[in-house]
Amino acid sequence: MKKSENLMETLTGLCKRRGFIFPSSEVYGGINGFWDYGPLGAELKKTIKEAWWKNMVQDRDDIVGIDSSIVMHPRVWEASGHVDSFTDPMVDCKECKSRYRADKLQEYREELGKKGKAEGCPSCGGELTEARKFNLMFKTFVGPVESEASVAYLRPETCQSIFVNFKQVQTVSRKKVPFGIAQMGKSFRNEVTPRNFIFRSREFEQMEMEFFCQQKDEDQWLDYWKQSRFDWYVEMGVKKEKLRLRQQTPDELAHYAKAAFDVEYEFPFGWQELEGIANRGNYDLQQHSKASGKDLSYFDDEAKEHYMPVVIEPSAGVDRTLLTLLVDAYDEETMENGEERSVLRFHPRVAPVQVGVFPLSKKLAEPARKLAADLRKHFRAFYDDAGAIGRRYRRQDEIGTPYCVTFDFASQEDSCATVRERDSMKQERVSLEGLVEYLRGRFE
Ligand code: ATP
Repeated sequence: MKKSENLMETLTGLCKRRGFIFPSSEVYGGINGFWDYGPLGAELKKTIKEAWWKNMVQDRDDIVGIDSSIVMHPRVWEASGHVDSFTDPMVDCKECKSRYRADKLQEYREELGKKGKAEGCPSCGGELTEARKFNLMFKTFVGPVESEASVAYLRPETCQSIFVNFKQVQTVSRKKVPFGIAQMGKSFRNEVTPRNFIFRSREFEQMEMEFFCQQKDEDQWLDYWKQSRFDWYVEMGVKKEKLRLRQQTPDELAHYAKAAFDVEYEFPFGWQELEGIANRGNYDLQQHSKASGKDLSYFDDEAKEHYMPVVIEPSAGVDRTLLTLLVDAYDEETMENGEERSVLRFHPRVAPVQVGVFPLSKKLAEPARKLAADLRKHFRAFYDDAGAIGRRYRRQDEIGTPYCVTFDFASQEDSCATVRERDSMKQERVSLEGLVEYLRGRFE
């Protein structure tokens, strides 16, 4: 069988059916650009965030983490430049009133072209308005009075609280440059056209780290972080040949950035950014020092001088990483018996269920449940006794479970169970006593 021609549609269906991702508020018809993660999606998301935090914070002694509020003082966003310039150019079709991001029109046209639809305006071919600037920040009011004075914003990126807390965190952690501050959490952008499933949504999670260094070392650290971040995706099991590092061209660079690289993945809708690694210079610390009147410079107690460190920022998206893992893992194949199966070939490290436990017959439920409880101490285990064994395997294949253990009648005699591996579908008899070690060895 050919791998699904419309992979994104197939995956969206699988995610809904199996409980990875649903449209938000679906009973009311959904709300464009917002998604909910079901039991398996929530598990996968948690695994991604934990892996990032471990890699960036816990495994090193030069990075510390924070967890700040989403709503910040509105002057933060004036100083950072977001109130004035966090905008996308937007055009409307005069005929059908559809709205598009002007800088993505070519991309939409190419997609439609591929689907054999008319060129011109992406929807109906009507005339487009001139591009207008549209600010992407969600506005709200703090307190009971809805006035200009009480306007606040939902943060569009997590890093600004790192900059305004720089001095505080540096002092309490007693870190010396070079060092980093990491944070992950929700960000909000009122995207003109949320699309491609969870790739571009209006509420999403970011994992950002600001690495403060001396200007003379900026290129070396930029090189280090772009390589280190690329390697992280490979460690998460993403196929290396589907990943690339691309330097941003001068016209793509954000106003504050000196240089930037994107880690990109080849999605069915083209090569797209997963993460940006940028040299932000000392723009943000300067801006917040100026606007707040508080000196945010760093004091080097050996050289006895104050200076504004340069910032290298790897900025990744949790949801985009999750989508990458799904797209990259999805496969379809015809089995020896002629049946077809779809399978998520997740790395065992990230699979939301790592081991499925089945009694061959419901009569064996009790010892099989006990086995599942034992395995649960070490792995994300799932017990299932419903339906024919082949169907149970198929269900686990579809959610990416790397190993299934079947407890049968002989198990009670020989204290062994049958372990079936997802990708090869090979089965092996393994002693119950050695099962944890057996699986652990295969998960490394
Ligand atoms: P784009 O050009 O695609 O709008 P960007 O360059 O503005 O993205 P950044 O500001 O660099 O994005 O954000 C850093 C990371 O945050 C992105 O690489 C992505 O993983 C994630 N991200 C940004 N916007 C969204 C969104 N609307 N939905 C999901 N993830 C997002």
